Amino acid sequence: MGEQKGYVFLVGAGPGDVRLLTLKGEQVIKEADVILYDRLVNPLLLELAKPEAEFVYCGKLPDRHLLRQESINELLVTYSQAGKRVVRLKGGDPSVFGRVGEEVQALEQAGIPYEIVPGITAGIGAATYAGVPVTHRDHGASFAMVTGHDKSDNGQPLLDWRGLATIDTIAFYMGVKNLPYICEQLLAHGKPGQTPVLLIQWGTLGKQKVLEGTIATISDEARRVGFSNPAITLIGDVAKLRTKESWFERQPLFGMHILFARTGGGKSEIAAQLTGLGATVFEYPRFQTIWESAPVPSFAEFQEIIFHSPASVHWFFARLKEQRVDIRSLTADLYGASGKSVKAIESYACLAYPVTKLTPHQQGKRLVIGEKKVGERLLPDYGSYQFCRSHRETVVAQSHMTCRRLLEEDRIDTIVFPSAEAVRVVTEEIKACSQTPASLSSRAAVICFGPASANEAQRLGYEITETLQEPAREALREALMKAQLAKGRV
Ligand code: SAH
Repeated sequence: MGEQKGYVFLVGAGPGDVRLLTLKGEQVIKEADVILYDRLVNPLLLELAKPEAEFVYCGKLPDRHLLRQESINELLVTYSQAGKRVVRLKGGDPSVFGRVGEEVQALEQAGIPYEIVPGITAGIGAATYAGVPVTHRDHGASFAMVTGHDKSDNGQPLLDWRGLATIDTIAFYMGVKNLPYICEQLLAHGKPGQTPVLLIQWGTLGKQKVLEGTIATISDEARRVGFSNPAITLIGDVAKLRTKESWFERQPLFGMHILFARTGGGKSEIAAQLTGLGATVFEYPRFQTIWESAPVPSFAEFQEIIFHSPASVHWFFARLKEQRVDIRSLTADLYGASGKSVKAIESYACLAYPVTKLTPHQQGKRLVIGEKKVGERLLPDYGSYQFCRSHRETVVAQSHMTCRRLLEEDRIDTIVFPSAEAVRVVTEEIKACSQTPASLSSRAAVICFGPASANEAQRLGYEITETLQEPAREALREALMKAQLAKGRV
């Protein structure tokens, strides 16, 4: 894949569910210097990018297409000529109503190397998540993707309606506004009025909504419930195959939007599991580890070394290696402040103890390695010690943007606080977005992992829905199911 500098990838982000991105798409997003993204791209995909990547929002306002498209083309050329690795991220597949042809033309003219990375298009993705195959041996032998809107003055698409009426399954994109016109034309050209139709809004996302009808009824029904874009209009006998709820909508946590507070980097296994149960999980905020590069103390001087976190452990062993110090030359006992830290130490084939095993009264010289001075909190009798900073975790800029979007969209219905620190970090972010714990918990269930997080949440003004008996996955899952029931299925 393009090794040289100044390169453009035109990437399909898929219809919404972040897990529908291709592996190649993920790889190029991770390596990008600049990402130009569209309105319908799931903003959580941007979290895959390097913390220092630059983001350009190309949200297309429906009436300003032309002008915007030219300036997007220009930006692609300018950034890549400046030697950047550019990703142009588009909803669905870039070549299905994605204007990729126009962008490619601009790149060809400027002599800029590029690649196109396909994606799952909404017509197929949304249909699948609504439980409908676009072809079926008994119900559909042909499938067409058609625009429901075009450049004409009234926006009504000029199409070969007679030809279209002979296609078994049709997915109309951008078609909600012209739905009455589309149905009228199909009827006039021979499609039976009882042909089933599905309107699928926000397909593949937790906010997916499906409206069922026929060519004869769907326009009135859509107007009655105020159905809006972005939606796919799927017309054809295959739509009959939809069950009351699709496989996707039947998942136990479908429709839940969970803000999962965190205090460190890395993906949480619990969050992944909740996603697997159908929830939309925002792990938040995202941190970046900045390694400490200041001179380190001579580790050989200490009798006890206490590690605050796994990151501190990895930093320590990297320093030893850098200085060509063999761990066998150190006499210190090694302690981990958490089970994870103990495990991290032992992964280097060194024995480790939990901090609770520290002798209360100082025996020899102690060193604490961590992100923050946490000694006082680890053990009341900590005595004197030297502190050495291994790293800092800072919230990446992109997180602030995600926070704003989340709160603006007002979809968060559940907040999970795994620790007291997570409560503090997230609360700071929420306040920066001009919201308060009280207003947020009036709209969302608040679940705390234990008394420490519950006390902190209460102190900061949250109304707590549930504190888990034990901080285990099973207990969390049960609490969420309860919250889901209380919310009522969508
Ligand atoms: N390149 C995109 C389509 C862009 S046109 C693709 O391949 O999917 C934008 C239209 O796509 C919207 O008006 C809507 O009709 C459809 N669309 C995009 N995302 C959608 C989603 N998650 N659910 C339903 N329709 C969607």
